[in-house]
Amino acid sequence: MTKWIYSFEEGSANDKALLGGKGANLAEMSNLGLPVPPGFTITTESCIKFLENPDFFDSSLKDHILKAITLLERKTNKSFNGENSDLLLVSVRSGAKFSMPGMMDTILNLGLNDHRTQILAEQTNPDFAYNCYRRLLQMFADVVYGIPKELFDTLLENFEKNQNKSLKELSIAEHQDLVKQYKEIYHQENKNFPENPIDQLYAAIQAVFKSWNNNRAKIYRDLNHISHDLGTAVNVQAMVFGNSDQNSGTGVCFTRNPASGEAVLFGEFLLNAQGEDVVAGIRTPEPIAALEKAQPQAYKAFKNYASILENHYKDMQDIEFTIEKGKLYILQTRNGKRTAKASLKIALDLVDQGIISKNDALLRVSPASISQLIHPVFEDTALQKASFIAQGLPASPGAATGEIVFTADRAKELHDLGRKVILVRQETSPEDIEGMVVSQAIVTSQGGMTSHAAVVARGMGTCCVAGCGELSIREESKTLSCGSLTLTEGDIISVDGSSGCIYSGEIPTVLVENNQDLQRLLSWADEVAHLKVRANAETVKDLETAMKFGAQGVGLARTEHMFFGQDRILEMRRLILADNEEEIKMALKLLLHFQEEDFYQMFQAVQDKPMIIRLLDPPMHEFLPKDPQEIKLLAEKLHKSPEKLARQIENLQESNPMLGHRGCRLGITQPEIYKMQAEAIFRSAIRLHQEGLKIKPKIMIPLIADKKELDFVKSYLNEHIQCLFNEYEQKPFPYEIGTMIELPRACLTADKLAQEADFFSFGTNDLTQMTFGFSRDDIGKFIGHYKKKGILSSDPFQNIDKDGVGKLMRIAISKARQVKPNLSIGICGEVGGDPSSISFFQDIEVTYVSCSPYRVPAARLAVAQAVLQEGKN
Ligand code: PEP
Ligand code: MG
Repeated sequence: MTKWIYSFEEGSANDKALLGGKGANLAEMSNLGLPVPPGFTITTESCIKFLENPDFFDSSLKDHILKAITLLERKTNKSFNGENSDLLLVSVRSGAKFSMPGMMDTILNLGLNDHRTQILAEQTNPDFAYNCYRRLLQMFADVVYGIPKELFDTLLENFEKNQNKSLKELSIAEHQDLVKQYKEIYHQENKNFPENPIDQLYAAIQAVFKSWNNNRAKIYRDLNHISHDLGTAVNVQAMVFGNSDQNSGTGVCFTRNPASGEAVLFGEFLLNAQGEDVVAGIRTPEPIAALEKAQPQAYKAFKNYASILENHYKDMQDIEFTIEKGKLYILQTRNGKRTAKASLKIALDLVDQGIISKNDALLRVSPASISQLIHPVFEDTALQKASFIAQGLPASPGAATGEIVFTADRAKELHDLGRKVILVRQETSPEDIEGMVVSQAIVTSQGGMTSHAAVVARGMGTCCVAGCGELSIREESKTLSCGSLTLTEGDIISVDGSSGCIYSGEIPTVLVENNQDLQRLLSWADEVAHLKVRANAETVKDLETAMKFGAQGVGLARTEHMFFGQDRILEMRRLILADNEEEIKMALKLLLHFQEEDFYQMFQAVQDKPMIIRLLDPPMHEFLPKDPQEIKLLAEKLHKSPEKLARQIENLQESNPMLGHRGCRLGITQPEIYKMQAEAIFRSAIRLHQEGLKIKPKIMIPLIADKKELDFVKSYLNEHIQCLFNEYEQKPFPYEIGTMIELPRACLTADKLAQEADFFSFGTNDLTQMTFGFSRDDIGKFIGHYKKKGILSSDPFQNIDKDGVGKLMRIAISKARQVKPNLSIGICGEVGGDPSSISFFQDIEVTYVSCSPYRVPAARLAVAQAVLQEGKN
């Protein structure tokens, strides 16, 4: 027969699914011998049964509840329903498997009625007894009947005003009159307060079961990915009273500081109060340290129990306690919520204390929280008061404040004057790069998580909110509006790249530097990880950052990002718009020079670690100006007619640039560009070889759909490289030519591609775009609707789509490894740095993930967790 109710002695911490977190921990604490008021837990299974069929309550549960309460009467030697004048009052609290703080309901002081309150008043004092009764009447009305609590608050306020005295001064008759008025509210709502404690208990338990499905609980579960069919348990527990007298009180305390992780008790208490008074904020609680003076015995006992609980649960605890007439009771314990900094410190301290293992510590810190340790965040109290403007996509974490500017040039100008700026644009383009570099943050109204702004900002570690469609940005009139608010250049805004929120005005930031602790944890992560973590980086600064964060090489150096410096972009434009061989040669020569120097420095920065250099990928028109004024300026510099130039630029526009003349297609139509790039790579590599650094270049070709494309490009590159070895009298050294896998066709023909490619790297940005047919720059316009309507649970450009894109990847890997079992296969799209996608990548057996430098630490932790979790499963 199914057991629906467990007394606290019967359960344990392992029973969270059946008894809920609170019930399981109450059971565990009771069995540890801690002073827990006795009680019982009605299981989550009962809740599910009741929600399916309410008749279940009468037919199967009532008798068991009756038996359990009789047992509780016996245990406490008090009476809930009978003649014994030692009154048993109980609390009825929800408690689901996963903590859902404040989302479901609680009723305290159950078991009081007019008669029993009189008895209680005689035994204690009228003020205390009627205070308890009023709280019950108010909570019961709210939880069981949905009568607003405020009606009682207003009544009480008016009563006090009319009587012109405080509650403490009321006579018994006045207390009783007040209770009568409370009950009037019930009557006005056509309800009755049941005088029989058992009826109260039945109604309360059913209401708490039902609160599983109230709106706020449902929303909380959606937000926290908690299943809706778990149900809540109900804990019925003998009341102890923190509001009995001045030797009583109640409080909440963490066993360590949840903000810093410091190993000191951190909490607060109120004397002569019940639990909700601490939360309600009507009286200001005192810090826990003051309890030592106020209640030395209780404090000593609490310290002892806090330490027992922390050692037992092997984690920082968040404990609720009550002191009744000097005696301490523990009412709840759970693993405490904490900041990223505290989470890291506590995990390391627990290892040092020998309480947990290094592997446990690795699982204790969430990879998502690591960004808070390497980026600034807004000061919490200031953030709560900040004036919110709009929310876009959290494209690159961090927090920054600055003056709004609408163009990259203005960003540079003001930055040169020592001002802090935030670049706000509809979308950014490669031309904006210099303005982006000097900005504190970047905000765009269009584009998704893999848009230019997002990718570049992440690469630089600059805070960015992308695709904030609520903003209307008019670059010409230098205004930004959102609803009725309009801001102009120079106005101050604050941008939170971790939440995607934008605020007006300045908000102070804090940087929780804790590098030593982080390095220590990540060194343990590297010991257990299977997957390697590389970085996407193309400037020496980014490379150095990546290496500092522990990247094991470079998975993607996008060479187009190297063409955007002022001098370089001119030569790139000269090349694209050349009318004759002469111009082409001149541009290529200068570009070769720039690139050779770039690669030389980059190779030096990565030393013996692998670095994959991808040849040019974007369509040519991305390098060209659109603005007529800029076209005129360019025409002057190139000594061409502006009209002709405008026509040429117009002709280069494409209907679907992402599907157009880009990637290896450029390498096929204009081999001289790829040859120039290969030459720059090999000239610098040969120089370094001659200086003693044995570089093994790895060249990657983008957007391959067919093996013949790869054959064609590879063949002329090999030929050119041989010529360079000959020209520089260099004994040939090993090098590799691999391909990106970013088209569905490449996945399906991966066995053929593997014959020619020395390595693979999944470009999941394009692969996702091409698989879904979602433009990676426009997904922001509809992904919100898709999520709200339950069509997609997350943005597939942020979290890998296992069923579609992932399946193509699986096919590609299996086909490729049939041809080359040891083929190195990486991931260099944005999901490569997504901790929640990483266990999938481990599962499909890729060799490494590659992500922007600032995501490397979180990825290092996530690859270790993937191994540990696999072991657990
Ligand atoms: C990709 O498509 O995933 C990729 C890494 O290349 P890019 O983002 O430069 O197109
Ligand atoms: Mg791509």
